[in-house]
Amino acid sequence: MKQWREIFRKNRASRRLPRPLPPPPERPGDVPEGLIEKCPRCGALLYRRELEQHLFVCPKCGHHFPMSAPDRFRVTLDGGRFFEYDADLVSTDPLGFPGYPEKLEQAMEATGLPEAVMTGEGTIKGHPVVLAAMDGRFIMGSMGSVVGEKITRAIENARIKRYPLIIFAASGGARMQEGMLSLMQMAKTSAAIERFHRAGGLFISVLTHPTTGGVSASFAMLGDYLFAEPGALIGFAGRRIIEQTIREALPPDFQTAEFLLRHGQIDAVVPRKEMRDVLARVLAVHARRGRSGGKAPSV
Ligand SMILES: [Zn+2]
Repeated sequence: MKQWREIFRKNRASRRLPRPLPPPPERPGDVPEGLIEKCPRCGALLYRRELEQHLFVCPKCGHHFPMSAPDRFRVTLDGGRFFEYDADLVSTDPLGFPGYPEKLEQAMEATGLPEAVMTGEGTIKGHPVVLAAMDGRFIMGSMGSVVGEKITRAIENARIKRYPLIIFAASGGARMQEGMLSLMQMAKTSAAIERFHRAGGLFISVLTHPTTGGVSASFAMLGDYLFAEPGALIGFAGRRIIEQTIREALPPDFQTAEFLLRHGQIDAVVPRKEMRDVLARVLAVHARRGRSGGKAPSV
């Protein structure tokens, strides 16, 4: 086995990746490419520009399309302005896993991103925050060493600066190509959140479609507030595995945001159009109490 000297590295070349990002790859059969999206729920054909104006929510049925990390930053933070952290951190192939370097390369090319999470800081209605957004297009938003490291550094920046922390999760779980190193990120990010909490920090976790596996089993469920987008799939193991294990049929909406809300596992299901307002309200309440160094509300 290769030495673990380099679990991740800084790659100057990643700075040259194209931004703003190209649209995500289209599903076959959708023409013309990149211009029109078909809503998977109601079948409506939507112009991409129209969809963008509606924050990637179907104007006909309210279906929430997955959102890229840069789009999430753009629509969440004031004026879409932010300072990005660790944009030059990229994964290596510490275990020599067959095909992994090519997979990373393809994901970078398809998304224009160096990894499956983007972190940085900006403001929401004047309140400074540290923000992290995962991108499900990048190897299913799986958490490898770099995703874990970037999230941990974001948490630590929030602690040092006394800013509230907001993480938009979207992940298929741990990145199997990094084996144990990937699983370790669960403990690392959870420990960083615990330190942040002990320092009095405010953490708002937003679960988006899908949040599963090692991400749902670590930092994503450790928020002071747990919000989810409508219809988001949230769980640890998949439905089929659970059904086979307990030998029982599960309700149709099992592991959806709405199901979790009914069973008290999350605090609210927040439509994307209301997300900024809800986040700003929570930030204002805690700024008033002097927690996490937020700006005093202007009301
Ligand atoms: Zn629709």
